[in-house]
Amino acid sequence: MGMVAVSQFDYEYTRRTLEIVHQSSAGPYEVTNLINCLLGLLIVPRESVFAALPDVPVAGLKSWGISRKSIRKFRVQRNGRNGRKARNGTRGSNGHAHHGPTLRQLVDQLRQAVAGGNLKPRIANNRFVGLELRDGRGFHVVMTKLELKRFVRKLAQYLGGYCDLDAAETRFVASWQSKPFHRPDCKWARRIRRKNLQGVRTRRAAIKAGHRPCRVCKP
Ligand SMILES: [Zn+2]
Repeated sequence: MGMVAVSQFDYEYTRRTLEIVHQSSAGPYEVTNLINCLLGLLIVPRESVFAALPDVPVAGLKSWGISRKSIRKFRVQRNGRNGRKARNGTRGSNGHAHHGPTLRQLVDQLRQAVAGGNLKPRIANNRFVGLELRDGRGFHVVMTKLELKRFVRKLAQYLGGYCDLDAAETRFVASWQSKPFHRPDCKWARRIRRKNLQGVRTRRAAIKAGHRPCRVCKP
């Protein structure tokens, strides 16, 4: 079953990326590793994996690490798949409406920037100061190292089929390093190291991400 194998590969790939990101807390190759991870995440998974990303405004996703300041210019997509018209990524005048890209739109334009080779590290005084991405049609993002790190971690998490632990949709938990998934109150769930702990939305998502139900808490 070729399709199943590819799909499994997508998940393995994103899990391995999570592992790398969590390890690279510092070190001389931190930025290089992060850029490699970002490139891989934007290129390797299949379309259907990206389609599973939540179509929510980036502005509401503080933990994703990309600030409005970083999104210098966002290209308006008039014929977007989701049918909703995106506004330019600038501050709204009334302050409470969500202007700017949704996560799926942002990832889509980042992918186009990478496909077009429009990615370059900004260096000042021999130090990395940000990663610049453009799609050649108006889209322009500059990510700092911290933003890059958060974004890569989050993207790997979501492409791997996980969600935030404290998110409303989190019903189960799992470690990306082991097979079982649990109910959050399971004694085995409590033994998972915090840095490895991931939220999972549904039983189906957990199984799709390569997990099996815990025999103790029977999720
Ligand atoms: Zn359990």
